[in-house]
This record gives sequence, C-alpha cells and structure tokens, in this order.
Amino acid sequence: MINEERLQKRFIELVEIDSPSGHEARLRDFLKDIWQQRGLFIEEDEAGRRLGGDSGNILIRVPGTRPGPAILFCAHMDTVEPGRGIKARVDEDGYIRSAGETILGSDDKVAIAALLEVYDCLQENQLPYPDLEFLFTVSEEQGLLGSKEFDFSKLKATLAYVLDDGHPPGSIVVRSPCQNGMEYIVKGQAAHAGMNPEKGVNAIQAAAAALAKMPCGRIDEETTCNFGLIQGGTARNIVADYCKIYGEARSLNEKKLESLSEKLKSIFIEEVERYGASAEVNVKFLYPAVTLDASQEVCRLAQKAASRIGLPCREVSTGGGSDASIINGHGIPCANLSVGMQEVHTCQEQIAVDDISRVARWILAIIEEAVQSVD
Ligand SMILES: [Zn+2]
Repeated sequence: MINEERLQKRFIELVEIDSPSGHEARLRDFLKDIWQQRGLFIEEDEAGRRLGGDSGNILIRVPGTRPGPAILFCAHMDTVEPGRGIKARVDEDGYIRSAGETILGSDDKVAIAALLEVYDCLQENQLPYPDLEFLFTVSEEQGLLGSKEFDFSKLKATLAYVLDDGHPPGSIVVRSPCQNGMEYIVKGQAAHAGMNPEKGVNAIQAAAAALAKMPCGRIDEETTCNFGLIQGGTARNIVADYCKIYGEARSLNEKKLESLSEKLKSIFIEEVERYGASAEVNVKFLYPAVTLDASQEVCRLAQKAASRIGLPCREVSTGGGSDASIINGHGIPCANLSVGMQEVHTCQEQIAVDDISRVARWILAIIEEAVQSVD
C-alpha cells in the first residue's frame, strides 16, 4: 500500500531543501504547496517572528472520515549544521547517506516524508481515519524553541506522536529527562597582573576552584550534569574580573534534578565566596520529564500497530528532550516513536531505505488501530 519508490523520492527531495534552524522558510513553502495541491491549507504561527527565524511552526488539520481519537503527529523541520547544500546518495547496502561534507537530515525529514506518504495512501485507498493534525515545528534543534512557542490549546488531539528518535522503528520512548540550563557567573576584581596583582581577585581561578569541587558527568543512572562552555577575562596581563560557565543538569526524576541543581548552585557560591569573589547562578527549567505507562492508550495503539506489521516493539528511555517533552507538558499524552535514523548530527548520518518504509507503515497501522479502537 505504501508506495516505496515515491516515498524514497520524496525523502531525498526533502533532505535536499536547506532548513537549518531559524531558516526553515524554503521547506515551509515546499510543504505549503504540497498540502495546497491536496486541498489543505497550512496555518503558520508567530514562532518565526518571535524567535527571529524566517518561518513559524505549521499546522495542517485533516478532518476525519470516521470517529476515533483525534491524533497529532509532530516532526521538526529544522536541521543542525553542516546542513546546507545537502546531496543525498543511495548506497548499494540499502542506506541513504550524505554525498558530501554535510549531515543527511533524516533527523527529522524521515518523519515528514513518511507522514506525506501516509496521507496520500489514506486518500488513494480510501482508508478511514479520525481527525488528524500534522504539526511541523521550527528550531527544535536549538532547544525545542518552536514547540515552546506553539499554542497547543488550538488542537483537537487527545493523543500525540512525535517521530524523532534514533532507535529502530517499533521502539517507543517512554521515558525522557527534564533539564535545567545553568549559568554560573563569577565577579572578581581587575588589577594589573604585573604591578599590583594583590589588588585583584581572579574570577577565573575562583571559578576553577569551585568547578573542581562540583560533580560533573554521570551522577546516577537517571541523572547527568555538564559544564559545556566557559568565557572570561579580558587580557593576558589583567587579573580576570569576570568568568561565566554555561552548564546543564538532566534527570529522568524531577526531584533529583532539583536537588542536584541546588547542590551545584550552593557549592559554586560557597567556593567562589571563600575565594573572595562574588557568585551568581541562574537556573532555567528547560523542559519537563516524560514518563509514559505502557497501558496508556498512546502506547497501546503504537504497540498494537507495530506488532500488526511485524515490527519488534520495545520500550526505551532516552537522555535527551524532544518536542514530545513539550507536548506532554501541555497535557496531551505523547510518545516519541523511533524512526531508525543513525549517527545523527554527524556527517556519517544514515538511514536504511527499508526503515523509511517501516515508519510509514507503522503510522498507517496506528491510524488503523485508532479507528478500530472505537468500532
Ligand atoms: Zn530530531
């Protein structure tokens, strides 16, 4: 039923349209034309304007032909760099890869290609379906920025699927962490490094002393933290009066995230002040944790659909957030489904041609299960 040749062609067409984060307009226009040819219109929100990008999130509403739970399917339009001028290559081993020094962009265009194919399949075969909503977000790779701007109150969906995980198709992400962004700032005192260093308070050394006492890396099986970027000082011969460290903390467990963040903050402040400098720590909650129960409808439909088409179904947990974190946070149960993309965010990114078809067949089967769930 899935037209594999058309699907593969569409996938390649999509990855060859540049859409790095903040520059999704060309892809939006392409999708706008495709949906218009099918008599459907996209609704674009204000996310582009608010985030300084050239496109907003786009929503397509497909009125159902049968009763059943309204379903949202979500994928992101943006890609990471290097993601300009992508040329896809189909290799003899059945994988699609980038032909040049770029990523491929199967993250997340495999999902967009599969959803378009599913829509065409539903129409060509006159298959029944409940109300469907397709949401294509912007700037996901920048920290889920697009979906954070989206107004979820305008949706009908009572359950949702994000298609944006790298396990083999059939796997469902049932647990993902919450995350805090952390900024650690030290303010010291500048002085000439050679003439009167004793008048200065070195912010870089104060930061180093504090960092040496702080936990970093894996904390326990559910919890991690990191220092990822450091800035500070003004010149070689000036005692540094300023230093800033950008870090993060994540946990599958919200209480653990809170206590780890508190601990990091208090050690930092205590150590910096002991050194005679002053400290400031800014903690920003970036997205909530997701914990789904296998007995929830959103999981059951995906599991039944996977076994119906012979995909091995596994529940997996992940260390990263996705648009599913935001959608769940808005009260719509949402599972992130695995689509088989591999080595994402590298120039070795690849996806098996067969996995692209599996994803489309899985989505089609989920829609079928949803219709049957009320028969
Ligand atoms: Zn992604």
